[in-house]
Amino acid sequence: KGGGGGVNIQVLLRCRPLSKEELSINTPVVITCNEQRREVSAAQNIANKQIDRTFVFDKVFGPKSKQQDVFNHAVVPLVGEVLDGYNCTIFAYGQTGTGKTYTMEGGGGKTQDGELPSDAGVIPRAVKRIFDILEAQSAEYSMKVSFLELYNEELTDLLAPDESKFSDDKSKKPMALMEDGKGGVFVRGLEEEVVSSASEIYKILERGSGKRKTAETLLNKQSSRSHSIFSITIHIKECTPEGEEMIKCGKLNLVDLAGSENISRSGARDGRAREAGEINKSLLTLGRVINTLVEHSGHIPYRDSKLTRLLRDSLGGKTKTCIIATIAPSVHCLDETLSTLDYAHRAKNIKNKPEVNQKMMKSALIKDLYFEMDRLKQELYAAREKNGIYIPGEQYLADEAEKKAMSEKLDRLELGLESKDKQLDELQGLYDSQKVLSADLSDKLQTLQKKMQETECALAVLEEKYMQANNTIKEKEYLIENLLKTEKVLVHEAHTLRSELENTTDDLSGLFSKLERKGKIEDANKNIVGHFHSQLTQDMDILHRNISTSVSQQESQLKVLEEEMQSFITTKGKVAGGLQNQVREMKESFSSRITELHGFASELNLKSQLSSEKLNAQVSAHTSDLEDCLKGLLADADQLLIGLQNGLSQQEESLTTLVEQQHEGLTRNVERTKSISATTMNFFRTIDAHALELKRILEESQASHQKQLLQLQTKFEDLCR
Ligand code: ADP
Ligand code: MG
Repeated sequence: KGGGGGVNIQVLLRCRPLSKEELSINTPVVITCNEQRREVSAAQNIANKQIDRTFVFDKVFGPKSKQQDVFNHAVVPLVGEVLDGYNCTIFAYGQTGTGKTYTMEGGGGKTQDGELPSDAGVIPRAVKRIFDILEAQSAEYSMKVSFLELYNEELTDLLAPDESKFSDDKSKKPMALMEDGKGGVFVRGLEEEVVSSASEIYKILERGSGKRKTAETLLNKQSSRSHSIFSITIHIKECTPEGEEMIKCGKLNLVDLAGSENISRSGARDGRAREAGEINKSLLTLGRVINTLVEHSGHIPYRDSKLTRLLRDSLGGKTKTCIIATIAPSVHCLDETLSTLDYAHRAKNIKNKPEVNQKMMKSALIKDLYFEMDRLKQELYAAREKNGIYIPGEQYLADEAEKKAMSEKLDRLELGLESKDKQLDELQGLYDSQKVLSADLSDKLQTLQKKMQETECALAVLEEKYMQANNTIKEKEYLIENLLKTEKVLVHEAHTLRSELENTTDDLSGLFSKLERKGKIEDANKNIVGHFHSQLTQDMDILHRNISTSVSQQESQLKVLEEEMQSFITTKGKVAGGLQNQVREMKESFSSRITELHGFASELNLKSQLSSEKLNAQVSAHTSDLEDCLKGLLADADQLLIGLQNGLSQQEESLTTLVEQQHEGLTRNVERTKSISATTMNFFRTIDAHALELKRILEESQASHQKQLLQLQTKFEDLCR
């Protein structure tokens, strides 16, 4: 809160409960208070629409709040500040009948055996607390109280003794507001009653408010249009470490303002324009001062009313200020309530710069007292001259004697004062340096505040990180749990693995022996391969030789075959020649026989020409037939011969070609067999090389196997350990 420009004043809100009358006529409630959230909501009905307005304050006291609660939360801290040397002011602001006087003074309960009634207000409670604290500290102190009323811009002293003994018929004497020359004001002739116990103050209070109440009945509800200011001034003696006596001073102002309804409604309504105008003057000026302070809009019109002159320091000054705004919950005063809420909410923005009252040295206080006495003396003279008051002779003499003693005392004091003045100057110097220091400090404070904000941000980030870290921790825990489980499983597996490994060593020794056997077998194999190779080469040589002998045999056989074929062909040719001759002989024999037959036939013809022409015919027929048959036979024989000759020549040709082919095939066979034997030789040579290579590889692999086995053995031994 605050920042560079000062500290915002505190604004609290109090809502009173419904009164008995209000309850009896079932007055609707339109105000809800949320003390936790420090919120007040007003339910408004505009053109049949429910429109809620919510205001936030520094503190909210609902209808059920007790006087004790208000005091504890709103006043106790301020009482502490007063005792620390601050000036503090509490204003009660609100419409008439909302509980301003109830809050400040109380409900009218009587004190019993020095105990406050439960409805006692802020003023008696504050006084009691101050006494309690000071007594508990057994401090040396003095307390003065004053009770002022401001009505119609006229100040009245509510603590002034009854003045009926004076001939004056006024019950209260109006007092003047004077400048004190230090920027403040004081009320001339204001009764400041010194009190030394709480019960004393209750009496004073009763007297003062009693006077106000009487006035209320007499002067037509005056109290609602008047302001009352109750002030407590405390001086507490302190000793510096150097043994010097210092006076600490604090002041608490408790202000019960006039009803705020007068601020919005023109008082002219009652036909007493002036009075209304005057009342409005202080309250309106208060409003204007607040507005100017909030809006920072230039000149602040403190001087326009007595109230603002008296409480100038409480509004934008060095005093710590608190406003208690009071409202009623009923629907009937909703307009006023809303205007109070607006007013109080705006006042939250007023910034004060609270400052501790400068501690006075006892000597300075004496100086002040001297001035005060001087002033009183003058007043006395004036009073005498003006009113021509006569004092009884004894009284006069006593007074004079006292005066003389006083002036002597004063002279003495004056002498002392001169020396003290010097000290004062020194102190002033000190004060100036302290001022510089305090400016420095405020700068540092600002930087610290910035850092605080940064740290807060960092904290938020850290908190987030913390949450994340928590989450990850949870995850990790879960993981660890799982890991433990798996570890157990792993241990179990390790055990089984170990037994398996033990088995494996047995297997390995078996493997070693097997490998040895294998090596032997491989050696044997190598021998066998070598043996096989030599055998093969021998066999191949034999094969080669066999093939070449068979080729030569075949060649000789072929020659024999050729010769035989040639002899066969010649014999065939002879046979064919014989056959030709036979055929020719047969042909000749046939032709001779045919001629014989022709002769025989002609004979027969001759012989039988006579016998039978028929027979002749038959014979001729037979002869032609025979002739035909013979001709056919001849042709056939010719053809047969020719075919035989053709077949023979063809056979001869085919035989020669066959012999040639056979010869070619055989030569090819021989060549192929030769090439085959060469490739086979090559093949065996390569096989030989491969066998050698294989042997080398085998040896290498055996070596590497042995190495690996050794490694395995060492590893396994490590593991077993
Ligand atoms: P104001 O001073 O604002 O005009 P009062 O203090 O005279 O109002 O209060 C008006 C009436 O309401 C009085 O009878 C008072 O006892 C009563 N009253 C006010 N506030 C409360 C409260 N918080 N609890 C009980 N009664 C209250
Ligand atoms: Mg009142």
